[in-house]
Amino acid sequence: MLFIANWKMKIDVATTIALTDALSQKVRTLPEDAEIVLCPSYLGLMVVSARLKGSGVKLGAQDCFWEGQGAFTGEVSPDDLRMQGCKFVILGHSERRQYLAETNEQIHRKLQAALRAGLTPVLCIGEDYQQRANNQKDYVLIKQLQEALQGIALGQEDRLVVAYEPVWAISTGGVGIEATPDEVQYASEVIRHIIIDLFGAASLKQNVQIVYGGSVNPNNVKAFTALPAMSGVLVGGASLKAEEFIKLIRAALDK
Ligand code: PEP
Repeated sequence: MLFIANWKMKIDVATTIALTDALSQKVRTLPEDAEIVLCPSYLGLMVVSARLKGSGVKLGAQDCFWEGQGAFTGEVSPDDLRMQGCKFVILGHSERRQYLAETNEQIHRKLQAALRAGLTPVLCIGEDYQQRANNQKDYVLIKQLQEALQGIALGQEDRLVVAYEPVWAISTGGVGIEATPDEVQYASEVIRHIIIDLFGAASLKQNVQIVYGGSVNPNNVKAFTALPAMSGVLVGGASLKAEEFIKLIRAALDK
C-alpha cells in the first residue's frame, strides 16, 4: 500500500531533516507492504535523499518541468530529480492549479517528461466545492484525466498513480467537510473507467494505481484504504508529525 507524504511548503529544511530522521527510525517497525514516499520541497530533496539511503523509504518531488534541460529559469528538470534519487513526482496538485494557473495541457507535458525520465507521476485530480455543488464532478474528473493523459503511452515498466483529491476536502483549501468513503468509491469508479478507456483494462491492472487524498488522518484512513479500487493515500497535514504519520500507516495496514 502506498503512503505519499506531501510536505508542501509547510516546513523549512531543518524541520524537514528532523522529520525525515524521525520517520526513518520508525519505519523499520512497519510491515513490509507499506511503500512510503516523502515529498519535501525542492530545497530539501538532496539532503532527504542522502538520509533515506538504505531506509527503504522513497523520495518524491512536488512538481517538475516539462523539459529535461534548457533555458528555463527557475524550473527543475525531471531528469535531474531522477538523478538525485527521486522515484515519484506529484503533478497537477490543486494548489498549483489554483495559485499558479497550471493547465491540463501543462500537466500533460510534465507527465510525459516525468515518464521519460523514469519517474512515477502522481497525477492529482479532483473537483472543487462549486463544481461539486453544480453536479459537475464526473465532468471535471473526466476532463482532467483525458487532457492530462490522452496520447500518453504507458510502457511495460511505467507506473502511474492517480490521486483523487477533491479540493473541498483538502485540509488547507477545503471547506471543512470530509469526503465520505462512498463518494471516494464513486470517484474511483469514474477514474477506473476513464483509465480503461485510455489505456485498457490490462494496463489499469499492471501500471496504474489510484490513491485518495484530502484530510486523511489516523482515524479515517482505513475507511478509504479499505475501498476496493484504492491502493493508498496522499497525505498532507497528517504527514508532518512522525508519530501521526506512522500511526496513520499502521491504522491503514491493520488487518
Ligand atoms: C494534499 O494537499 O495533497 C492533501 C492531501 O492535504 P491534506 O492531507 O492536509 O488534506
